[in-house]
Amino acid sequence: MNTTPLAGAKSPFPGRLILEGQVDQVMKILVINCGSSSLKYQLFDMDNESVLAKGLVERIGIEGSQIKHTKTGMDAVVNQTPIPDHKVAIKLVLDALTDKQHGVLSSLSELSAVGHRVVHGGEDFASSVKLDAKVMEAVKRCVPLAPLHNPANIMGIEAVTAALPNIPQVGVFDTAFHQTMPPHAFIYGVPYGYYEKYKVRRYGFHGTSHFFVSRRAAEMLGQPIEKLKIVTCHLGNGSSITAVDGGKSIDTSMGFTPLAGVLMGTRSGDVDPALLPFIANMEKLSVAELDSLLNKKSGLLGVSGISSDLRDIESAAGKGDKRAKLAEDILNYDVKKYIGAYAAAMGGIDALVFTAGVGENSASTRAAVCEGLEFLGIKIDAQKNDMRGKEMEISAAGSKVHVLVIPTNEELMIARDTKRLAF
Ligand code: AMP
Repeated sequence: MNTTPLAGAKSPFPGRLILEGQVDQVMKILVINCGSSSLKYQLFDMDNESVLAKGLVERIGIEGSQIKHTKTGMDAVVNQTPIPDHKVAIKLVLDALTDKQHGVLSSLSELSAVGHRVVHGGEDFASSVKLDAKVMEAVKRCVPLAPLHNPANIMGIEAVTAALPNIPQVGVFDTAFHQTMPPHAFIYGVPYGYYEKYKVRRYGFHGTSHFFVSRRAAEMLGQPIEKLKIVTCHLGNGSSITAVDGGKSIDTSMGFTPLAGVLMGTRSGDVDPALLPFIANMEKLSVAELDSLLNKKSGLLGVSGISSDLRDIESAAGKGDKRAKLAEDILNYDVKKYIGAYAAAMGGIDALVFTAGVGENSASTRAAVCEGLEFLGIKIDAQKNDMRGKEMEISAAGSKVHVLVIPTNEELMIARDTKRLAF
């Protein structure tokens, strides 16, 4: 926002005084995604939504911790140093951003706001929100719903508050976009009292990504989102499919946790629930061991016995490995079934979107998923599909359904919401 305002003009961002003759600073927003032992960050210049710097803090609280910082256009710099907790991690991030050589800020006062990815907002948050003490209480109440994720998100927010007590902060929830699902899509067929007592229900995740790509799809098609029925396939290490009807999520494949839905890198996706007591009984597994089995040792890894990474699976399958091929086939079949289910749930489908690591990069996954869906009006152009990581329409001429590849950008979405809500 490089404006030279008139004397006494007010900043478009309340709380930011522009003095006579002074050039307003650009709005710079830091986006933070905290895991239990990691912290990813990106600093945006919201004038043109460009990334000024980004980085990753790894192994927080574990031996061998480090921060890798990249100023846009420069080589990454790595600093290996003890990082006992998220407070120290945040301090290192802020130091890196203001570093004379590798930094992009002359001082921390240039930072306008901080946006955080928060995994679980329960039923309390149907949209992003400016963080304050009351909101933080609600985020903390969601900890039992996401015991591995929300505590890390909270640590990140508290570390920023400690370092920059007056900076506005915004929380963007993975679950928020799916709060529009109707009860028949989110209530499980278990005694209703568990929903009332423990809030046991489908929540869905990757909401920021499904929201982002569905809006982008409408923009690409030049049609109002309210008029479109879109199935968005976020296929990455974790994967979820969402039915977006008129811009609203009406169903999604992940559930109470991110374990449900299609086969993933190490997660099983949907299984017969009776499998759990059976395997536990046969293998003498505890509940925790069972949880770990389904989350960390299943999916592409569990079926193939080779890897959780689809690139390794594709390569092994190409060399004739039968279980790798089977793992690939299960994933493609699962995704295809969800597309059919969601077309039925919405009474039609206008656009199909592929996004995230697998969806953006694997032409063979996209081709296999779409094969046989011609009866739904889905037909892709093999030549157009033969590409990686580009935003483009890959449907064949005459395909009733627009098939789109749209690189997701959850960080930008968080930055946009932060800009909208922080002031
Ligand atoms: P994400 O979780 O969105 O970062 O996606 C990560 C996953 O994308 C990896 O585990 C890979 O399986 C997959 N992936 C990335 N690049 C490719 C590629 N060129 N071909 C196939 N799969 C890919």
